[in-house]
Amino acid sequence: MVEIDTILIKVASQCNINCSYCYVYNMGDDSWADMPNFISQETIESITKELADLKSAQQHPFAIVLHGGEPLLLGSRRLEFLLHSIRTAIPDSYCISIQTNGMLISGKILNLCSKYKTSISVSLDGPESIHNANRVGRKGERTYSRVIEGINKLKSHPDASFLFAGLLAVIDPTSSPHTIYNFFKDLGAPNVDFLYRDGNHDKLPFGKASFQSTEYGTWLAELLDVYLADQNPIKIRILDDIVRLALGGIGIKEGVGVTDFGIAVIDTDGSVTKNDTLKSSYKGADRFLAPWNIHTHRLIDIFSSREFADSHKLQRPTSLICQTCPELQICGGGMPLHRWKSGSQYDNPSVYCNDQLLIINKVKSILCGIQQCT
Ligand code: SF4
Repeated sequence: MVEIDTILIKVASQCNINCSYCYVYNMGDDSWADMPNFISQETIESITKELADLKSAQQHPFAIVLHGGEPLLLGSRRLEFLLHSIRTAIPDSYCISIQTNGMLISGKILNLCSKYKTSISVSLDGPESIHNANRVGRKGERTYSRVIEGINKLKSHPDASFLFAGLLAVIDPTSSPHTIYNFFKDLGAPNVDFLYRDGNHDKLPFGKASFQSTEYGTWLAELLDVYLADQNPIKIRILDDIVRLALGGIGIKEGVGVTDFGIAVIDTDGSVTKNDTLKSSYKGADRFLAPWNIHTHRLIDIFSSREFADSHKLQRPTSLICQTCPELQICGGGMPLHRWKSGSQYDNPSVYCNDQLLIINKVKSILCGIQQCT
């Protein structure tokens, strides 16, 4: 059986905003429209039973991430039922987190999260002009002020040190890494997880001129300079992971390194899918051939199947270029969605290959300098 690290549960298929780069709504896969708006009580009960069985079947604890759409659209009553149900299946030592756009954070929601030991990660791309450039409402309304309002409520809660898991920020390579870093630091974010923009060899990510160009790698390298110059830095997951990997350790999240993370996604109708970021490759890319659904199939059977194992293996790059790359152990070939190209499918290096090489080489040269000094 594939050992599971994270189960991502889609609790709402709708979102209250419409980010221009969203892979769920704006990358050509409209399958969300066929899904129930919200996860039902019956689906929650089936998931709860399956989570309890999975906990018994595997020693290794797994994390639960509540996702959407926008998960807080669920409202406090349904959210309490969901959290109470999950917590009856898995103990407090298993992480539960919510990935939210932050617009609907309220005192009531925070108290529920505190009660059921559930942390919150907020999506925020940076200062007002950067954030509002893409993270907009359905009519193009700006969302920054309401997100900051939500973050301030989160920071003011008595359990904020546990509740505030961090921020998720999509990189704008045209922005100043110095400005972005200082903004997040001043905001009091405990950590920031910077993400590359979705894109692939057919549809280059925003700001990337070509496969050879290094706009994102250059941006990360500048961010690293700011990060290293800070005596009291906030955590930057991607940079920490690359440093750890360059020193022979392991990363903590997919996208760098060669650790295979066991990830499963359950949609609002109970269907079990692949990593949903694959939606950006082509319509239906995140769907298994098998019609797996939490109402009719056992999770432990799904995770023991050949098809699930094959999908899990997709994290490892198949491209000969990657397999013979001297930086494979650090880079890992990037995220599968970034390898996509019509024809050769995922059998390519990441579209961010040259960006990865640039930041990896920068980290290595800094480490090399430190080691020579000591
Ligand atoms: S994507 Fe590029 S840097 Fe990464 S492993 Fe493949 S060839 Fe190496």
